[in-house]
Amino acid sequence: MSTSQPYYPHYDPLRDSSPGTAMDYPPSYWRFHAGEPPQDDGPVNGDMDADVVLIGGGFTGLATAMFLAREYGIKAVVLEANQIGWGCSGRNGGQGHLAWGRLSRSQWVRKWGADVARRLHANSLEGFEVFQSMTEDPEIDCEPQNLGNLLIAHSKQALDGLRKESQLCNEVLGYKTRVIDRDTVLNQYVGDQECHGAMLEPVGIAVQPLKLAYATPGWRAGWARKSIPEARSRTGRQMARSTTCKHRAGR
Ligand SMILES: Cc1cc2nc3c(=O)[nH]c(=O)nc-3n(C[C@H](O)[C@H](O)[C@H](O)COP(=O)(O)OP(=O)(O)OC[C@H]3O[C@@H](n4cnc5c(N)ncnc54)[C@H](O)[C@@H]3O)c2cc1C
Repeated sequence: MSTSQPYYPHYDPLRDSSPGTAMDYPPSYWRFHAGEPPQDDGPVNGDMDADVVLIGGGFTGLATAMFLAREYGIKAVVLEANQIGWGCSGRNGGQGHLAWGRLSRSQWVRKWGADVARRLHANSLEGFEVFQSMTEDPEIDCEPQNLGNLLIAHSKQALDGLRKESQLCNEVLGYKTRVIDRDTVLNQYVGDQECHGAMLEPVGIAVQPLKLAYATPGWRAGWARKSIPEARSRTGRQMARSTTCKHRAGR
């Protein structure tokens, strides 16, 4: 593994202009339990031909490379300044659930109406199913826990709000959520002593996120055996900026 710089704990992507180069991972639980990082191909030292170049070896770049190879036979090059999964992808909570953004689903309905809310929900489910299929791939060892998703209320008022939200999910979106009481949360899910109850969504899978990122070489090896062009990873932020990528037409 080509790390040459120690972990820098003060890096802030909102403030710093660069993520650095060849930086070590943060000393996290995920890192200590993820096994050995995958090998990359080393820095890019000159011009290279590529059909697609992806900058950043996080979930966005890795998943894009995987689907380009799997669905279009396109050999993408992933350029990563530091390490595979070094950024947010290797440091997050590992919670995979439906995406509803900053608005609650009842706010969707109020803002855009039931029809748009149903379409947003369907779109979110479709995205989740792609993620779920990855967690079920035997080559992708990411410790999935398919137990659903909890929205925990920390006050009686919040629990009342979740009851209404759950009812709306069931009746408007056809999404079968339910409200569970404090004892059920504590006995069956998590020991959150401040909990008043929770809304349980049936859709939700927790993963070990850094292992999910590391599993990319497993996909690559699988494709290579099937004679589908493999995705390659390289390091070198500076190289990512200076490399000339010649576009090949006609693919
Ligand atoms: C604390 C926290 C908790 C989160 N929890 C969850 C969660 O539970 N569930 C969930 O779904 N999402 C969660 N997220 C969000 C999720 O982690 C991100 O949406 C996702 O990881 C983004 O992936 P990415 O590939 O776009 O970016 P990143 O994973 O950040 O990858 C970007 C990569 O690009 C590299 N890079 C940057 N600039 C260059 C360059 N010029 N040249 C080469 N390489 C470069 C970086 O080194 C980095 O490795 C969380 C985020 C945070 C911060």
